[in-house]
Amino acid sequence: RSFRLITTTNPATGETIAEYETLDENGIDRKLEQASRAYSDWKHSPMERRTELLNALGDLYEDNEEELARLAVTEMGKPITQARGEVGKCASLFRYYAKEGPPMLDSRFWDLSDGGRAEARWLPQGPVLAVMPWNFPYWQVVRFLAPTILAGNVGVLKHASIVQGVAKRMEELVLEAGGPEGLFQNLCVSSDPIGKVIDDPRIVAATLTGSEGAGSAVAERAGKNLKKVVLELGGTDPFIVMPSADLDQAVKDAVFARIQNNGQSCICGKRTIVHADIYEEFSDRFITALKDVKLGDPMNDDTELGPLSSEGQRDTVLDQVKKAQEEGCTLVFGGEKIDRPGAWMTAGLLTDVPLASDTGTDEIFGPVGQLYKAKDIDEATTIANAIPYGLGSAVWTNDEDEKEHFANAIEAGMTTFNAVNGSRIEAPFGGIKRSGHGRELADFGLHEFMNLKTLVHP
Ligand code: NAP
Repeated sequence: RSFRLITTTNPATGETIAEYETLDENGIDRKLEQASRAYSDWKHSPMERRTELLNALGDLYEDNEEELARLAVTEMGKPITQARGEVGKCASLFRYYAKEGPPMLDSRFWDLSDGGRAEARWLPQGPVLAVMPWNFPYWQVVRFLAPTILAGNVGVLKHASIVQGVAKRMEELVLEAGGPEGLFQNLCVSSDPIGKVIDDPRIVAATLTGSEGAGSAVAERAGKNLKKVVLELGGTDPFIVMPSADLDQAVKDAVFARIQNNGQSCICGKRTIVHADIYEEFSDRFITALKDVKLGDPMNDDTELGPLSSEGQRDTVLDQVKKAQEEGCTLVFGGEKIDRPGAWMTAGLLTDVPLASDTGTDEIFGPVGQLYKAKDIDEATTIANAIPYGLGSAVWTNDEDEKEHFANAIEAGMTTFNAVNGSRIEAPFGGIKRSGHGRELADFGLHEFMNLKTLVHP
């Protein structure tokens, strides 16, 4: 029996943080058995028990905000102020489902034409596997965990290798909050055994947030087993600025949209598309503001841009910048490696991006923006949709007709007007095209892994 080690590294310093022994086959089996046992009790738990646990988790995340935030910064390098915000948002989501969730599980009734009555009732289904990324290491998991608890399901987490400290702490917090053993477990494994976990009959469904490649591997295996999947994958979201926009705010938000989370958010505004009438002014101000971004130690409160999550991730982005230039794009500034230990690079900007090129269609998961000029609303829409993804989008306009046009015409799961697009705890979240399918949050997210059972009383 061989154990593999997962090593976590501080991307701000390049230093090793910890080593974790991965589970072998027997270890995985024990966890799945535990999940199965926990489910046989949890599915019968009264609603008050579930909402109490959610509220207790909300309190624990809030009380431990600083410790949890620092742990995430150490493992994946996001600026500390954003890490605190992420932990706080998790606390809000636990409380939101405790308060607003129970009525989402109310049955619906129909009078039948033969005089009988039908009821559709939401029932739990069993242990669900969640494969999650490192970029919002708490939020992505809580977006799955909070509705899982309320639904009466149980969760098994395969977290990204680089955030195993966060994964372990999240498992502990459920127990500290009074959750039963096995309700939520971290499988400390690489992605190698995940196919077998999906095959296991004790797992009823899978959700994955991450890259297209991982999504397609998990979906293929789940498909073979006829198990449902929810996929939240990548994107290269448009951020459109029209002439009626408040330019001061639009410039500020375009910069934040691109560099938030050190440029590693699925719903970053990655392609800034600006109407020709305001292009010159916007572009001057955008370039100045992007160059002024404060790069530094992610533990400092005033840092806006820290290191990337790993040296491998940083090198991928540097390769994309090089390829962009080979494809004829102009590198206006930045996008360069910083020579110091850790995963550092500067923010940068590309223009003259050919729509059909790899640069025009691939996701750049790092702080390098793309700026496009659109001669009118139709061209802005064409550029926005010229990608295989359809996750989020943001549009800056104060013209109601334009809003209505973009609301219907942008091929994406979300469009936010005059603000940075982000997930809001009360609203459904998800994408179309190669950004995945299914929804998280709200009643839609809660219902994804439940059995909508029809009861007929003739
Ligand atoms: P990733 O490499 O796909 O990793 C995500 C998770 O999948 C990790 O736990 C990873 O484990 C696992 N994994 C990788 N290959 C797998 C396979 N073949 N089978 C099973 N599991 C596998 O993605 P990432 O680099 O961490 O995250 C960046 C991507 O996630 C970007 O494309 C981003 O846009 C997307 N994302 C999407 C959303 C959304 O809500 N739509 C949110 C955040 C991020 P290991 O770490 O052990 O490899």
